[in-house]
Amino acid sequence: MQNLQSNYSPLGTLSPSVTLSLAARAKELKKQGLDVYSMSVGEPDFDTPQAIKDAAIKTLNEGKVGYIASSGLPELKDEIVKKMATHGIKTTPNNVVVTTGAKLALFETITALCGKGDEVIVLAPYWLSYPEMIKASGAKMVVVNTKAENDFAPTKEDLQKAITSNTKLIIVNSPSNPTGAVYSKETLQMIADLAVGHNFMVLSDEIYEKLIYDNSVKHISIGSLNEKIAELTITINGFSKAYAMTGWRLGYLVAPTWLAKRISALQSHATSNATTFVQYAAIVALQGKADTELDNMVKTFARRRELLCKLLKEVPQISFIEPKGAFYVMCNISKTGKKAADFAQELLEQKLLTVIPCESFGAPEYVRLSYACSEEHIKEAIKRLKEFCSGL
Ligand code: PLP
Repeated sequence: MQNLQSNYSPLGTLSPSVTLSLAARAKELKKQGLDVYSMSVGEPDFDTPQAIKDAAIKTLNEGKVGYIASSGLPELKDEIVKKMATHGIKTTPNNVVVTTGAKLALFETITALCGKGDEVIVLAPYWLSYPEMIKASGAKMVVVNTKAENDFAPTKEDLQKAITSNTKLIIVNSPSNPTGAVYSKETLQMIADLAVGHNFMVLSDEIYEKLIYDNSVKHISIGSLNEKIAELTITINGFSKAYAMTGWRLGYLVAPTWLAKRISALQSHATSNATTFVQYAAIVALQGKADTELDNMVKTFARRRELLCKLLKEVPQISFIEPKGAFYVMCNISKTGKKAADFAQELLEQKLLTVIPCESFGAPEYVRLSYACSEEHIKEAIKRLKEFCSGL
């Protein structure tokens, strides 16, 4: 039997997503009436803005329920092109592919570009789905570790050591899940120069672009830095985080024409097209009709981040860097002497609090706390965390 299994593609050996399964477990326990607090959730705890919902309902009532072009609705692609222009990326509808979530955009890009013998550079701590996507493509992941004291930005020396003649791609995620780091222009320029110099492509996951809390920090798309890097960059974005639309499953990518064509062909045999009425609704989001809700959400996250960081400073067993974006705080728990998985498990058992252990994020000394929850929730959760840590 085992021989038979190893005869088959690496896709069959993927690990399930820990973040999703832990969040599901917390929900399950809550349903049983237990007083479980979760700081593991990877989605905004907000409702989708009404204007977006209304547009979806209107589209459904108009009977726009059929297949459309695989790469996406032309009207939505036009809006994406306009949005990219605000990032300094000049593009055309032919470069855009609308996908079933940013996750699929990432998966399809890696699948379309990489295979056996290819290497993909990933910066640790990384989002846990990247390794699995790379594994599915048959390529090899090359990890470059980053340090908290460098704000989780990679150094040129470390990147240079990782580059080989097989390097095909580097994945850049700013703002980052899990670190909350937002890369400076200098860091992005350094990465772009290496990519251009060694002729490999850059996959820029910008899904948390709107969620930045520090006024002195600006989101920069690496593909906007110059024309050479524009030709090597795939920019990924979506609606899940900015517009509280995780369940709607809508994302997109902007790629050089040859690659957009390739990915569109791949998608035409996988999902055909991302859900038609959801694409109509997303136009409204890009036209700014949900910006009031977006601003309120960002302000709320900013207040929560401040509160969470203030409370975490009172837990001596934990150290952390104040995140600039996304909605997570990476907590270094090495002072407790525990592995992240054990820490998280014991915390859940003893204090009914879930956090994400970061082994599968390439950061075994960390647990990730999400502040996609109310201020009251944060206060109670950190009270439990403090009690747990003081008992160690
Ligand atoms: N990229 C990162 C870094 C994420 O954290 C997530 C979701 O958690 C995604 C992409 C996927 O987003 P979507 O819901 O659009 O598939």
